Amino acid sequence: EQKAIATPIRTKEIMKKYGFTFKKSLGQNFIIDVNILRNIITKANITKEMDAIEIGPGIGALTEQLAIAANKVIAFEIDGRLLPILEDTLEPYNNINIVNQDILKADMMEVWDKYSLGERPINVVANLPYYITTPILMQLLMAKLPISSITVMIQKEVAERMAAKESTKEYGSLSIAIQYYTEASVEMIVPKTVFMPQPRVDSAVLHLKMREKPPVNVENEPFFFNFVQSSFQQRRKTLRNNLSRHFTDTLSKSEIEEGFEKIGIDGTRRGESLTIEEFASLSNYFYQQIK
Ligand code: SAM
Repeated sequence: EQKAIATPIRTKEIMKKYGFTFKKSLGQNFIIDVNILRNIITKANITKEMDAIEIGPGIGALTEQLAIAANKVIAFEIDGRLLPILEDTLEPYNNINIVNQDILKADMMEVWDKYSLGERPINVVANLPYYITTPILMQLLMAKLPISSITVMIQKEVAERMAAKESTKEYGSLSIAIQYYTEASVEMIVPKTVFMPQPRVDSAVLHLKMREKPPVNVENEPFFFNFVQSSFQQRRKTLRNNLSRHFTDTLSKSEIEEGFEKIGIDGTRRGESLTIEEFASLSNYFYQQIK
């Protein structure tokens, strides 16, 4: 059996052979522990009947394990310096396609067509570049791509916020945005020592299972997400306070109070205590008043 890419020795060898230097600005922290990668793939429930999309293959550490576990792998890599390296390191595998594009600018429809995605369930698996974790995830979710799940290594604090339940200090508009589209869970905490170079922050593996439909009925999504964001604007302040600021130009204080009464939510509560269902009822009510 060929030695895995994800070891300190092979990573160093590959870097030396190509004179490759890490670009901090691209979030390049490569994984050097194959057990972590196999755990990630287990958490993602990858099988040979599925295709995988990877974001940021680096020198191919995770890509290789995905190629072993999945039917085929499509990997987006922004850094052109890595293309010849990937060609070399992933040479033993014939089920990998590297797309040299910025994931935030990629034309997903074109990629779907070109690699005949959609014939099998698709899972996204990645050790994400931490500087753009939230934009990448929100873009994948909002595009409503036909994918089954997303399993990603990200900064621990961000993973905890994304999976947080109401009435915890991690809960906020990000929790609601993510959980509107998915069932979110933090699967494991990962020490810095499995990366080269080591990042400054701790990491975690976040699993997002796509929902078939949102858990609540929302009449207008942009209005809802704005409303939720404003409810957390000043975390220490009451809902009444944050919302009177949000609706300054559109609703009077007594109209806002009427909303609280009609929906049965106490205006002295804080945003962090509201469930997604409560946010949806309140936001739908105010949307009707304003539209
Ligand atoms: N998958 C490899 C591993 O686990 O060892 C590398 C992970 S490293 C944390 C993040 C990777 O994402 C880097 O290879 C980086 O060049 C790439 N990357 C950064 N920004 C990107 C973008 N906008 N689109 C695609 N890839 C990007």
